[in-house]
Amino acid sequence: MIESDKIFCAECGVEKTSKFCDRCKKETPNLFKKNFEVKIQPKPSLEKQIKRGETSWNWFWFIFVSLISIFSFIIDILPILWSWKIFIFVIITAFLFWLCILNTKFQNKLAGFKMKLEETWRKI
Ligand SMILES: [Zn+2]
Repeated sequence: MIESDKIFCAECGVEKTSKFCDRCKKETPNLFKKNFEVKIQPKPSLEKQIKRGETSWNWFWFIFVSLISIFSFIIDILPILWSWKIFIFVIITAFLFWLCILNTKFQNKLAGFKMKLEETWRKI
């Protein structure tokens, strides 16, 4: 592999071989060697970003489980046949799984929301 073929994660800066970043545990934009030196160097919050990558998955699963709990409760009190309840539950679970675990855009929003919560918590 020649030097210019190396790709890096645009979010944490670690070297990677595909679109999937091992450190961020998700697909992230690629940075090539040329851009890497220009873009990553002035970043002071690199450590903070790495830490976010490690804790994010717990947060995504927490949101996933919380939403399922809420929807389970709502479905349970719906005045419909139990077979329909199971059907709706399966659909909603699949949708939430896609949203919280597979959808990178929504995960970015969740991560942003978590950071806002943490900032608010620090102020209190
Ligand atoms: Zn990364």
